[in-house]
Amino acid sequence: MPTASIGLSVESLPKLVYHLPLMKGVYIQTYGCQMNVSDSDRMEAILDSIHYETVKTPQDADLVLVNTCSIREKAENKMSSFAHELKSLKSQKPGMLLGVTGCVAQQEKEQILKELPFVDLVLGPDNIDELPWALEKLNEDKSTPILRTEFDQESRVWESKTLIKNPGPSEFISVMKGCDHYCSYCIVPWTRGRERSRTIDSIIEDTRRLVNKGVREITFLGQNINTFGKRNNESLHELFYRAHEIDELRRIRFTTSHPGDLQDELIQCYVDLPKLCSYFHLPVQSGSDKILRAMRRFYTVEQYMEKVEKLKKARPDIALSSDIIVGFPGETDEDFRKTLEVVKASRYDNLYSFAYSPRPGTSASTRNNQISELEKKSRLMELQNLARQISKESHQQWEGQKIEIMLEGPSKKNPQFWTGRSSQNIPVHLAAKAGMKPGDFVLVNVVEGTLTHLMATLTNAASHKQPDLSN
Ligand code: SF4
Repeated sequence: MPTASIGLSVESLPKLVYHLPLMKGVYIQTYGCQMNVSDSDRMEAILDSIHYETVKTPQDADLVLVNTCSIREKAENKMSSFAHELKSLKSQKPGMLLGVTGCVAQQEKEQILKELPFVDLVLGPDNIDELPWALEKLNEDKSTPILRTEFDQESRVWESKTLIKNPGPSEFISVMKGCDHYCSYCIVPWTRGRERSRTIDSIIEDTRRLVNKGVREITFLGQNINTFGKRNNESLHELFYRAHEIDELRRIRFTTSHPGDLQDELIQCYVDLPKLCSYFHLPVQSGSDKILRAMRRFYTVEQYMEKVEKLKKARPDIALSSDIIVGFPGETDEDFRKTLEVVKASRYDNLYSFAYSPRPGTSASTRNNQISELEKKSRLMELQNLARQISKESHQQWEGQKIEIMLEGPSKKNPQFWTGRSSQNIPVHLAAKAGMKPGDFVLVNVVEGTLTHLMATLTNAASHKQPDLSN
């Protein structure tokens, strides 16, 4: 199937999009991690600049983008069934365009166009800035689908700017992309390319701009954020010290860390920087050294636990979360028991646990010592039961304490309540009160800790009020 390709820079885009008609509707369906959510925000902002407004359903859209994830089989299957659902909609709306973006686009490339011939556009994560060009091309000739999945590897530094159409009080800034590790179960190095970081100066510029628009909490994003800046002699802790100086920025978060790359300088930030939230996502993946070696994680359980202890010493109220894969090829019952021991010792506030699913293209997928689905399921259930018990106990420890939370907005389930978040990233629900605004910081008394959240009441003590930024 012929596909269009280009050799042009993003700077040349405005003159190409000059003739686009006004106000079309775009619907973006996002699967996967926060990096994908951030890419969708970026696409929304790019499309806004060429007169596409976000609509609530695919039925209302002139353009539907499916931003895909290939990290787990489930997400890939969901995207495929969603795309098939759109086939009949496209036949009713011949002018509608359908694009597949993100990791599956990067991985499957022309295969998508073969399997889903009604798709008009396939864009890899490094090519989303080319959306205006691609749409212009499709508006000229819809019979030739567009395929763009080239990695941009020219410079050591990742040149990018955060684009968010309507920032809320809490926003994400991607500070790097790609990963130089090759964990044997992970597809990221193939879908996001080699690691490249933005400069601290450009990230601080974005942070200031967002803070001026009312953002109070920033989460810095990277696939392996601990190695941020390694090619341009900068580091994550330097970024944190710089961001901490921005007056109206109240909270700093980051994700995702690799325990093998976590340095003492970063742990020291938990002593020096009060705006750095008391939360750390430190994926252990397994509690068995044998399995960690097979996963190519290059740390031992002992080294991991040393880091956990250092973090708890640096910030005694820190909440830890983790990722664990159960049923990795070759995992014995003894290996799995060791994982349970790590969970008990680390006392994760929140655990993201998954049964291993082989991802095509990864080295672990071809091993002949795969674990049966039944065994994986039973181990996963045992792990999740333990994790739930620890989360609940950990949340109950907050009962009777006064804590500061940032308000996010009315509760989705019950509008008589508002939801906020503690520094430890725990959702907190409290009765709605006139004058509450997203981005307000309030002091609350915790009355109950449950598995998933805290229930609290407002105190009379003053905290930080979000200014009215509507003008
Ligand atoms: S460090 Fe994370 S992103 Fe990189 S290969 Fe390993 S699991 Fe994937």
